[in-house]
Amino acid sequence: MGEHVERLKQHLYRYHDLQAANSVLSWDQEVYMPPKGIEARGEQMATLAAMAHEIFTSAETGRLLEAAEAEVAGMDYDSDEASLVRVLRRDYDKMVKIPTELIAEQARITAQAFVAWREARQQANYQLFQPHLQKVVDWNYKVVDILGYKEHPYDTLLDFYEPGMTTAEVARLFGELKAGLVPLLQDIVARGKPVDDSFFSQEYPEDRQWDVSMAALREIGYDFSRGRQDKTAHPFTTTFSVNDVRVTNRFMRNRPQSSFFSAVHEGGHALYEQGVNPAYDRTALMGGATLGVHESQSRLWENIVGRSRNFWRYFLPVFRAFFPEQMEGVTLERFYRAINKVEPSFIRVEADEVTYNLHIFVRFELEQALITGDLHVADVPDAWNAKYQAYLGITPPDDAQGCLQDVHWSHGTLGYFPTYALGNLMAAQLYAQAQKEIPDLEESFARGEFSLLLGWLREKVHWHGTKFTAAELMQRITGGSIEAQPLLDFLRAKYTEIYEL
Ligand code: ZN
Repeated sequence: MGEHVERLKQHLYRYHDLQAANSVLSWDQEVYMPPKGIEARGEQMATLAAMAHEIFTSAETGRLLEAAEAEVAGMDYDSDEASLVRVLRRDYDKMVKIPTELIAEQARITAQAFVAWREARQQANYQLFQPHLQKVVDWNYKVVDILGYKEHPYDTLLDFYEPGMTTAEVARLFGELKAGLVPLLQDIVARGKPVDDSFFSQEYPEDRQWDVSMAALREIGYDFSRGRQDKTAHPFTTTFSVNDVRVTNRFMRNRPQSSFFSAVHEGGHALYEQGVNPAYDRTALMGGATLGVHESQSRLWENIVGRSRNFWRYFLPVFRAFFPEQMEGVTLERFYRAINKVEPSFIRVEADEVTYNLHIFVRFELEQALITGDLHVADVPDAWNAKYQAYLGITPPDDAQGCLQDVHWSHGTLGYFPTYALGNLMAAQLYAQAQKEIPDLEESFARGEFSLLLGWLREKVHWHGTKFTAAELMQRITGGSIEAQPLLDFLRAKYTEIYEL
């Protein structure tokens, strides 16, 4: 590695260490911290975030970056050196415009917003969260003001999570997706073929659910010597280093499928982070390319693998061993259909594959309206409910099952949700490509062999960390751009069989 790139890298170690320390504080806040710890925690996180931001946006970083750029000029686009410098330049040019005070303010706002959200959701009382959401939206206005935008103010927010993607491009992809999903859902509903998943509505002891989730994580290749699982209100994955990637889960006594698929979902995120080239630790190349690519990994494992018949050919006996009474008389076919039941529902994270993206369209449209000022924070519950009626044909009975269900706004993030649907699109594209390149892939799941798929994902996606944008990665792997058709083909084929359309 060149002398200047090396100096730049070492200069930023402190930045990455502070960021990682802040992630530990945030993880603790959601896993262990008692409620009254929040005020001090907010200040601690604000201090660390401000220190990290000062280092990252310092004049010293700017100077080292320029020297490093001169050094990597002419190097391969794909090389570690050129990629590190390219990614840092992209982030630096953006972050240097944002004052440190605004970064600290975000940490303070969100620490309190998170606690208020949790309380509001518990009580199904939007009023408790509304003033905090107002602060979050105002904060995002300021960021858009500072950074500016070319076409749509939402572009600026989206770019934090999905660099290079625009609101117009997302709208185009979602339009195509909608055009295919709506008739598919109509066909399923019209078919009226009931799926019996009543065996899930029994008592499934939490400690057994925990054991099953741990077994599932182990099976797909999650490395517990470099991670752990804990309980939270809203499952997530967090990374402190390539050797410490943690997942969380939640358990409901009569919804064992929820904690199971949550484990596989977060496990998919964690496999990605555990699979990045270890040489990238403590640098900007560590982590997932974009949130959309990240979600492609979690959704691929959760849905395409975890909800496949072949996966359960192998795993049903394991599951049954944990719940012999509850699973009495439940055949593979009945189980397979139950975990793939399509039904419009209120909660995004519990939604089936067909209706899931409709939940995302709702959020994508509401967030755009919030940032253009067309929607006031006070009117969010009504707007939310109206969109659920329009897209899913149902109206949430309360705000806990409506606009308070997701943690994201309390984290200060607007512009994050579209990445979930983009992840679904990419998951289907990646899987179609993997099937072309790996003979016997589907059958390997029935043997409990997940290393063929994991090895392929490691090589094609995980290893590269943040080196490439989503568009670049997809071009390299599939030879094309992000498209909606592969997901629509996958869903049409799968549900035609299940519902005999
Ligand atoms: Zn996810």
